Amino acid sequence: MTADCTPPTISGLLVTFLVRSGAHAMDKKRQENYKKKLQVKREDLVRNIARVEEEGRAADVDTTVDLADKAANSYTKEFLFGQTSAERAFLQLIDESLRRIKNGAYGLCANCEEEIQQKRLDAVPWTKYCFNCQGKLERGQL
Ligand SMILES: [Zn+2]
Repeated sequence: MTADCTPPTISGLLVTFLVRSGAHAMDKKRQENYKKKLQVKREDLVRNIARVEEEGRAADVDTTVDLADKAANSYTKEFLFGQTSAERAFLQLIDESLRRIKNGAYGLCANCEEEIQQKRLDAVPWTKYCFNCQGKLERGQL
């Protein structure tokens, strides 16, 4: 920031106004950072789900007659299914966060609409609740 006397731009004024009025205006660069993090995580998940599904299909064409093998095979399938459903839920959470970035709601708690703590977003960029509300949610109070 230079201390020259160029007049403030409209968007600069708007940001100042939003910050002063207590409204939320997350740093664009910071938001881009989270977006990147989310997208990387998303690609990871999509790849993983595809791979696990492939394994599931491979287990399907298994032609073993041995009962113990069959049991082990269905156990594997169940395990793989459980794994993908957890990852799908996670993927949904990430997609939701990306949508929230698009419509400007990202970084605000979905419950109390307070700004989510930066430390918390850094650790879990896909969260939609602030620390307090997440705690309430986990205690079944939300
Ligand atoms: Zn909250």
